[in-house]
Amino acid sequence: MILILEPDADLEAEAYRKLMGFLQRLPGVEIRVHHVQGSQQRLTEIYLVGDTAALAPEEMENLPLVERVVRVATEYRILGRHRDDHRPTAFDYNGVTFSQDNLHVFAGLCAVDTPEHVAAMMAALQAQGQVCTRMGAYKPRTSPYSFQGHGRDCLPYVFELAGKYGIRVIAMEVTHESHVEEIDQVLEQTGRPTGVMLQIGTRNTQNFELLKAVGRQQTYPVLLKRGFGITLEESLNAAEYLASEGNSRVIFALRGMKTNMGDPHRNFVDFAHVPVVKRLTRMPVCIDPSHSVGTRAEAPDRLLDIQHVTAQGVVAGANMVLVDFHPAPDRALVDGPQALRLDELAFFLEDVAIAREAYEKRRALAARHHQA
Ligand code: PEP
Ligand code: MN
Repeated sequence: MILILEPDADLEAEAYRKLMGFLQRLPGVEIRVHHVQGSQQRLTEIYLVGDTAALAPEEMENLPLVERVVRVATEYRILGRHRDDHRPTAFDYNGVTFSQDNLHVFAGLCAVDTPEHVAAMMAALQAQGQVCTRMGAYKPRTSPYSFQGHGRDCLPYVFELAGKYGIRVIAMEVTHESHVEEIDQVLEQTGRPTGVMLQIGTRNTQNFELLKAVGRQQTYPVLLKRGFGITLEESLNAAEYLASEGNSRVIFALRGMKTNMGDPHRNFVDFAHVPVVKRLTRMPVCIDPSHSVGTRAEAPDRLLDIQHVTAQGVVAGANMVLVDFHPAPDRALVDGPQALRLDELAFFLEDVAIAREAYEKRRALAARHHQA
């Protein structure tokens, strides 16, 4: 059961002490308090876990400061959508709003290689009015002999260049909790010129200790990739791990499933699950067309397969697109064959805008249909 308190409820007030005193006396009920900072107001949600079956929602609603009570299903308690649950789906981070209602493109390098390539990428993004990017510093690689990413060494120039080119959020994978500390230290040293969204890759979707560590910190939002060989339910539970540790600013990414049934694509594209994740949870949904398709193959209509699947995800309401670009794909150290070139950025963004407009028209159509 979730008790949603009045917006900006004063946690120092006598009413709050009374409420907490009452809740603490409930037998067999564990209490977890979550704060959700929106741009306008702060919401406090109190999660009651355990023996809540006997609690009457109408009575709980009469408790001081309680505005609304949501009875939750057992699944995805925090991130899930529950009956009569109108909690917001949005969060703000470093001046950017993420929600199930909008769309951001994170075009950038699969792996950081040189400062020149980072600068060229970010300059191209700025020229297109973009404030988000992807930059891989810690790369999980199949072979131990492959380039593993520059790690901490590249962070100072990545963050400084991001500041220079007006980038507000960088999606960056972490494969160990020490990487979160390194990112935090270097951001601090460089004066926090940008923000970071911590990415958990598909190989770590069920690395529960990593999930718990990343969930315990609340400085950075998290982009969780769906596991490539597990069920959707298992991956959504992985997201819930982050939230249950305290961080509910989570975006869920679809990136294709590992099976030869998707050949000749690198993975089987699973963007049909965009509306499913939005229905089951309140998380914004990201699609990664690059790691799904894995090549620059072009269809007879002169659109790349990567663009086609992007459009499919966006037309279905995706909220974020994570996509590999590179100033010189043939020299990229990781995933060059799937990277788009900088001279294709405007083309890609305009194509995304067309798909988004189609989605918005479809949503308006559905609203009209249900009004009639
Ligand atoms: C990536 O986005 O760089 C990446 C490694 O993706 P995934 O974890 O989906 O393979
Ligand atoms: Mn990659």
